[in-house]
Amino acid sequence: MYKTVFLDRDGTINEEVHYLHRQEDLKLLPGAAKAIRLWNEAGFRVVVVTNQAGVARGYYQERDVQLLHQYMSRLLEEQGAHVDAYYYCPHHPDQGIGPYKVRCRCRKPDIGMFEQAAGDAPVDKAHSYMVGDKWLDIQAGARFGLHTALVGTGYGRACYEEVCQKTGEDPGDVQHPMEFFGDTLLDVAMWVLRQEEERAVTM
Ligand SMILES: [Mg+2]
Ligand SMILES: [Zn+2]
Repeated sequence: MYKTVFLDRDGTINEEVHYLHRQEDLKLLPGAAKAIRLWNEAGFRVVVVTNQAGVARGYYQERDVQLLHQYMSRLLEEQGAHVDAYYYCPHHPDQGIGPYKVRCRCRKPDIGMFEQAAGDAPVDKAHSYMVGDKWLDIQAGARFGLHTALVGTGYGRACYEEVCQKTGEDPGDVQHPMEFFGDTLLDVAMWVLRQEEERAVTM
């Protein structure tokens, strides 16, 4: 089994851009590559799980998502960081075209992408984490049985300050608050490494 860090993409690794799909709009957030590198070095698998309803809405194609992930991997590589796998949900339950308009199991806060990832590489949940900038990321991670952290980039600061209604999410539906809030992904990485050190000591 693999200890795994699951990461949301937009607002967590890269700057939040509405329906991001063009390489030139992809900007890594400060400290994000370093955070991922620290996880790499500590022996975590790093897995991206991202809702991409822009595909369902016809704003861009699945191929664009895949190409963007290749580009992101190249940017990360330049800083010695590595994502082991990317999973995306191209669906939307009621907005969308053709087969993409579906109530799927992969769209966060549901856990289908986590199950897919675990099918490809079994997850050691007690030592695994979900990090994102929205409550639906935290909900999904908690539902799957992971530790959770909210990051203050993207929508994270606003969510933390309980103005989630404005982002279209219902905080009343949050049954599992996150275990940690960090201003940046690097803060979250440091917290994860501390957590793991403490668990190693007490075991
Ligand atoms: Mg996000
Ligand atoms: Zn889906």
